Amino acid sequence: MPTFIDALTAALPAGRVLTDAESLVAYGYDGGTLLDGAPAAVVQVREEAEVIAALRIAQETRTPVFPRGAASGLAGGSVPRGGIALNFAPMRTILELDEDSLMVTVEPGVVTADLQAAVEARGLCYPPDPASLKQSTIGGNVATGAGGPRCLKYGTTREYVRGIRAVLPGGAVIRDGGAYLKSAVGYNLSQLFVGSEGTLGALTQVTLRLIPKPPAVGTVMALFPQLEDAAAIVTRILRAGILPSVLEFMDKACLHCIEHAAKLGLPAGVEAFILIECDGQPAAVEAELARVVALCAAGGASVVERATDDETREKLWTARRSVSPSLGRLKPSKLGEDISLPRRAIVPMVRRIQQIAEAYDVLLPTFGHIGDGNLHPNLVFDPRDAAEMARVSQAAEALIRAAVEHGGTLSGEHGIGLLKKDLLPLAVPAENLDLYRRLKAVFDPAGIMNPGKVFSLAVTRD
Ligand SMILES: Cc1cc2nc3c(=O)[nH]c(=O)nc-3n(C[C@H](O)[C@H](O)[C@H](O)COP(=O)(O)OP(=O)(O)OC[C@H]3O[C@@H](n4cnc5c(N)ncnc54)[C@H](O)[C@@H]3O)c2cc1C
Repeated sequence: MPTFIDALTAALPAGRVLTDAESLVAYGYDGGTLLDGAPAAVVQVREEAEVIAALRIAQETRTPVFPRGAASGLAGGSVPRGGIALNFAPMRTILELDEDSLMVTVEPGVVTADLQAAVEARGLCYPPDPASLKQSTIGGNVATGAGGPRCLKYGTTREYVRGIRAVLPGGAVIRDGGAYLKSAVGYNLSQLFVGSEGTLGALTQVTLRLIPKPPAVGTVMALFPQLEDAAAIVTRILRAGILPSVLEFMDKACLHCIEHAAKLGLPAGVEAFILIECDGQPAAVEAELARVVALCAAGGASVVERATDDETREKLWTARRSVSPSLGRLKPSKLGEDISLPRRAIVPMVRRIQQIAEAYDVLLPTFGHIGDGNLHPNLVFDPRDAAEMARVSQAAEALIRAAVEHGGTLSGEHGIGLLKKDLLPLAVPAENLDLYRRLKAVFDPAGIMNPGKVFSLAVTRD
């Protein structure tokens, strides 16, 4: 009897279906360090017709499908458990750049940094900037609702999605929205796909809003001996009528790690590193940066430095972007949390993070997008140490409970995937989870799209 692999091989062009042992290993992981799996087959799609064929066969044979972009996700969202790893990376064409409408339509495998470079060459800007932008794809960014440093001023991927094409299980194609800004027409299916983590259907095209490229950008680094002062500077800057494009934070433990990697020459006795950027017209940027420098100096910073050339700015960004990988210097593995909080809760939450680290005897370096309230406390550990693993798991739950108590939630930009699924009921009411299940059943009645991700299909009352 023919298998789904035979059916896929017969329906798709030669070379699209991979079943060799190396491919099954290579497509079994994502950017997190805790989860992996293995598909029964990898399907490399190059055009929508191939996605339709794959999802038709998957539905007929009740085969699970695990969509995948660059697999830089940190929550196990693309990790396969048998079935088909559906790889969108080869679909990487920018289909239409409409400079008059400030819209671009792309295939899902376009790499975020490639899109940014292409639009910037025309004087335009696509603001969402996950630190993984040199790897991550637009399909993955949309499916996770990716954010990044510039979200304080410009919003996350969600704010840029204006239209989609997607293939549903069984092969039906849906189209929603388009290259226009406003719509008051029915349910917004495009937005439903943002953050859906591949559980509803497979994105094959995305239309994104662009903005004119800000003509000038300036960068300030400030170092604070007191954590409270660093957190308070956010409100001071905003209250001064300045909306920076970036307001990033790293604590002492993160600084220790990146100092080794990036050699910034940071002085001792620093509790927090704050990176601030303002963008816009050159004169306005100049005036805002001067004000920011003065506010930081008056607000307790021991060092305030402006990056006066591209090289220094790049060095600061390299340091910021290398923080996540550089935590590997502390312990072999890490669990990156992604809590999102009301801005007013930042100081008490940072203190709570320190208490949790002490209470559970774990290392918890923390960095994040302090301007928009999105913090990444990272539990670093050695997976061979069972006792430490148990403490890490308890600390992770304590962190989420604390974030919810402070009026926040468990993910600002990484999504839930497999990693945080069990903790979802701490932040999402049971009634909402019931609605999620019913909504999924409308799009995916056989339950083959990225099964087991985000929430369980079985109803459990917590
Ligand atoms: C060093 C590092 C830094 C990071 N920094 C950030 C950051 O600053 N901000 C941030 O938001 N994230 C960050 N991430 C996480 C990650 O890069 C993002 O979640 C990104 O959006 C994932 O894109 P991807 O193409 O790799 O998607 P994948 O990891 O391949 O997939 C992610 C999810 O999208 C689904 N998916 C992928 N393609 C499709 C499609 N065509 N149709 C339907 N579903 C699809 C998958 O099933 C999965 O659920 C970082 C990761 C790393 C490793």
